[in-house]
Amino acid sequence: MNNNRLLDEDKKRKNISITGVAPNEQEENIINSFNKHLHFTLVKDRNSATNRDFFQALAHTVRDHLAGRWIRTYQHYYSKHAKGICYLSLEFYIGRSLTNTMINLGIKDSCDAAIARMGLEIEELQSMEEDAGLGNGGLGRLAACFLDSMATLGLAAYGYGIRYDYGIFTQKIVDGWQVEEPDEWLRFGNPWEVARPEYVRKVQFYGNVEQTKKGSKWVNTQTVLAVPFDTPVPGYGNNVVNVARLWSAKAPDCFNLKIFNDGAYLDAVIERNIAENISMVLYPNDNNFEGKELRLKQEYFLVSSSLQDMIRRYKANKPVNLICKTMVMTDFPDKIAIQLNDTHPALAIPELMRLLVDEEGLTWEMAWNITFRTCSYTNHTLLPEALERWPVSLMQRLLPRHLQIIYLINHYFLEDVKAKYTNDVQKLKHLSLIEEEPVKQINMAHLAIVGSHTVNGVSKIHSHLLKTETFRDFFELFPERFQNKTNGITPRRWLLLCNPDLAQLITYHIGERWIKNLEDLRKLLISNVAHVVNNDPEVGDKLKLVFLENYRVTLAEIVIPAADLSEQISLAGTEASGTGNMKFMLNGALTVGTLDGANVEILEEVGQENIFIFGMTVDEARKIKTSCYNPYSYYFTNPVLKQALDQIRDGFFSPDDPAQFRNIFQNLISNDHYCILADFEPYVDIQKRISDIYQRPMEWAQLSLRNIAASGKFSSDRTVAEYAREIWNVEPNDTVLPTPLETPLSPSVGVDM
Ligand SMILES: *Cc1c(COP(=O)(O)O)cnc(C)c1O
Repeated sequence: MNNNRLLDEDKKRKNISITGVAPNEQEENIINSFNKHLHFTLVKDRNSATNRDFFQALAHTVRDHLAGRWIRTYQHYYSKHAKGICYLSLEFYIGRSLTNTMINLGIKDSCDAAIARMGLEIEELQSMEEDAGLGNGGLGRLAACFLDSMATLGLAAYGYGIRYDYGIFTQKIVDGWQVEEPDEWLRFGNPWEVARPEYVRKVQFYGNVEQTKKGSKWVNTQTVLAVPFDTPVPGYGNNVVNVARLWSAKAPDCFNLKIFNDGAYLDAVIERNIAENISMVLYPNDNNFEGKELRLKQEYFLVSSSLQDMIRRYKANKPVNLICKTMVMTDFPDKIAIQLNDTHPALAIPELMRLLVDEEGLTWEMAWNITFRTCSYTNHTLLPEALERWPVSLMQRLLPRHLQIIYLINHYFLEDVKAKYTNDVQKLKHLSLIEEEPVKQINMAHLAIVGSHTVNGVSKIHSHLLKTETFRDFFELFPERFQNKTNGITPRRWLLLCNPDLAQLITYHIGERWIKNLEDLRKLLISNVAHVVNNDPEVGDKLKLVFLENYRVTLAEIVIPAADLSEQISLAGTEASGTGNMKFMLNGALTVGTLDGANVEILEEVGQENIFIFGMTVDEARKIKTSCYNPYSYYFTNPVLKQALDQIRDGFFSPDDPAQFRNIFQNLISNDHYCILADFEPYVDIQKRISDIYQRPMEWAQLSLRNIAASGKFSSDRTVAEYAREIWNVEPNDTVLPTPLETPLSPSVGVDM
């Protein structure tokens, strides 16, 4: 028996939790700390404090439990020379942090008890926390699930993102119409983040390039400061605390010196807004490219500040000998891995080239070797309207040096292509990073593929379509670069936190190992649990349609555990993966879905008797589209469909404004881009079968349990472990760090954060 095991056994005997403190003592400590924060941090007494004050006091109490673990985690990585995994994403859709932090630190029960003893309601305090809504949907939520899994797997991971002042807008429905309101999530302060102004970075824009004897020089630039704010990311039950470093834009003192010098002091101060606008607001685009200059500024702002930070930390961790600079940088790819969450941070490639060549003095060849071995790229969509293409004219104005570098990358790349396909002009045109029509623009996906050692899709079918359709020419050139990494979701937030009753039921039957090893759910035997669900579910006698306003992480945590049926009905070949489908499955909903995205793998895991698959396959959908798809024929031959469409056309659903939905009818009849009419009849048929089974609660419950039992594959722990081994070249580990109480922090190790 090893020491860790002995420690565990010992703890069990003494009834000591992972925090190293007996529960009663822990509760006592929490109450003391809570009162201390209410008094000293919030400066309130119990009579004048609001629920928000109580939330803040609890959040600070919980944060105190993070601090020692956080410092120790950094000391640990430093002493191990751990490879830094840098996840670059324009979005981190985190949601709330209080309950998740308490759960991952193992102090939730003590906190609940302490709050109850003080006569307060834990749910009320939890509901005071604003969602960190720094994302649009799946892509941003994936980044947040990955942070949780990377910390839980003990990886030295850093999320790099932007600290938007305004996250995804708050949705209000007024008279049936959507109204978007600003999301002022920082209004009452953010108890989790720590500002690190000492690690501020300078990011340059505009200017021009001068050729000197020593090489190219980017001059006459405008500077914006990037100030990092660190958000702790606790691993589950391992005392690891990683960090998401989010950058906030700030004008330097000298910003717009010209106006200052002209004596227009107030104008100059007001002008500072232009710089600080960069991190003001998240663009509310999901699967859609808009091409705004401010967005390009955001992308470069993130990439430049993060790369400078990585190089700073890389050098700080080096057992110094900076005499030969180039020697020092060569093992950069062994110490740092950069994962690009879609092409949004793809400027990391030319920016790393610029830093290595212009700032560090490396040759182009050495710099390219380092860049290419460091970066990898995840593609998230096949939809052409989502692929980023930045006009060359804009790049020339905003980032002239980067445009030069991109041209040079393209030049060397096309030289290699020519050597392979002697003068196949068509090939060269397809592969080029620069497109000539309709305007001259940079294809960011092409840049990301050429500059990365690995490219991955996010489900089997999606990765297959990348190789055979979207990036077929690149696959032919670099077959070894292409991989699949099917998405996942963290079982901590998406079961343990959001569905505690189901979590407890599962733990009662198979123990708590599933929380870190989701494949354990296979151990559920249906008969063991059957008695729990043999009460008839209350089925209302009316069908009700409710639109849930302001969907966000916190609302998903409520809706998903309550769902019976998960509708994943995209046209095959249009959804890259989906993760909502996985959350529903883990919480026992049955899936009605097409053979699209991760639905295909859900079917593989659960078996066809336990899922409702309908509609066209990718091949059938492709075929119907190329053979003059005629939606009108479906309208004409299916009376149920005809009635439904006529009702849309004639104002059945909009009696006050009968013409309101006429364009929907028109669009479906004449174009129907997603072939909804072709999939309509099989959908209606399968819904009949679903209703039939829903009448038999025991049978439904069995299907539900089989889905839960088969959902293990979809843990983001599995996804991240695959990225670690097959892309980042690091091994996950289950090291449990000691708590600060068990072993004091080492005072002799000074670690750069
Ligand atoms: C999981 C999640 C998504 C992504 O859901 P899909 O069904 O995969 O599109 C979007 N928004 C929120 C709030 C989520 O939690």
